[in-house]
Amino acid sequence: MSRLVVISNRVAPVDEGQTAAGGLAVAVLAALKESGGIWFGWNGEIVQTPPTKPDTQKIGSLTYATMPMTRRDYIEYYIGFANSTLWPLFHYRLDLMHYDRRNFTGYMRVNGRFARALSPMLRKSDLIWVHDYHLIPLADELRRLGCEQRMGFFLHTPLPALEILLALPRHEDLMRALCAYDLVGFHTVNDLSAFFDYIILEAGGEVLPDGVVRAFGRTFRAGVFPVGLDAAEVAELASQHDNSPEQKRLATTLQERYLILGVDRLDYSKGLVARFRAFAKLLAADPRMHKKVTLMQIAPPSRGDVRGYAEIRRELETTAGHINGQYADFDWVPIRYLNKSFDRSELTCFYRMSRVGLVTPLRDGMNLVAKEFVASQGEQDPGVLVLSRFAGAAHEMTEALIVNPHDEDSVADALSRAILMPLGERQERWRALMQKLTQHNVHVWRAEYLEALQRPVPVD
Ligand code: UDP
Repeated sequence: MSRLVVISNRVAPVDEGQTAAGGLAVAVLAALKESGGIWFGWNGEIVQTPPTKPDTQKIGSLTYATMPMTRRDYIEYYIGFANSTLWPLFHYRLDLMHYDRRNFTGYMRVNGRFARALSPMLRKSDLIWVHDYHLIPLADELRRLGCEQRMGFFLHTPLPALEILLALPRHEDLMRALCAYDLVGFHTVNDLSAFFDYIILEAGGEVLPDGVVRAFGRTFRAGVFPVGLDAAEVAELASQHDNSPEQKRLATTLQERYLILGVDRLDYSKGLVARFRAFAKLLAADPRMHKKVTLMQIAPPSRGDVRGYAEIRRELETTAGHINGQYADFDWVPIRYLNKSFDRSELTCFYRMSRVGLVTPLRDGMNLVAKEFVASQGEQDPGVLVLSRFAGAAHEMTEALIVNPHDEDSVADALSRAILMPLGERQERWRALMQKLTQHNVHVWRAEYLEALQRPVPVD
């Protein structure tokens, strides 16, 4: 069997049990735990002079190979092109996209440096799997160094519709580099269609049967591989919380009120302000809900150095303050807004205690929280998932209450419906969702992706 080499911007967590806030880290760790291999990327440190060789640490069958970066790399590659250009662009926020030629050069430079540090570690038979928007040019850089291994790329964010993508000044360089892979994977058919549109309408390439693509002088494959969870592990973690100290503490403070739960990195793509407003509409529309429901929003800060993130934090605090000011009483605060992260085990406890999982991003690649919420429910009294149609998860999780997050009244209606939903309907929806999560788990995701990566691409 080939050795698996996974590359992502940030390698985390090296220590078992450490919080991995972020869907990519959770999925990659779950995928690598079973197969073993190498996980290469940034160690989160900033230094004056980066070494040319990565630092390696072996834990079980997994070798972590990590590198620091310079402040300039951090500003140009990470804060700049990756998170101020590509992230807003890929989430349809052209109003927040900031492009700067220097940042693009920095992005390419760091990809080149990663390739030079990684290539001496590679064996001919390795399978290389690169993750996410930070590292699109990595395969092209590795190929320039003579690496001929099979290389796959997986995009954890959405790929936007063609006209949005074309707003990126260097789109051709980026998409040409993406075509240096042997397999390009997306979460949904919408993302794949956007890619095919680019290939056909912009690059003058061809899309053939079985996802085979010809463009920029290369033939490779593209496909849809929706990421999953280790559903059994999440269910087990959650069930361990029946009567745990956390469970009891939360139950005491809830005083039999229904819990509506949101768990999201503090990011403008997650639709948090609109979500709070939808919750306020529920309270405004139905006074019976007063003192009957509590919205707990967990929102650990992320990317504090990137423009736009401080504003969203302020806006959210103001909105929560207004709603609590308007509706709170001496014995009830409608919104509990927690600006910190929790470990996954605690989260499963909160999910399990909730009547509603409220997942309403304006755009999201997949959204693992939606899946974790469902996997954490108990069959006796399962909660209901209210899910944005703009999360990748909505493509599979059709038994959730699917909403348009831009329509705050309809989100309020869905909340009301979820709270009042009879047990029989809740169980039926949950069973159907759970079956899908169990079937398309993270191990199946990895196996299907790697099988496609190894499948030969037809030549003329
Ligand atoms: N998460 C966590 N602690 C927190 C908040 C989130 O461990 O306080 C985890 C959560 O369990 C999920 C991941 O972070 O596995 C978030 O992934 P998702 O796909 O929902 O969103 P992303 O952050 O990747 O955009």
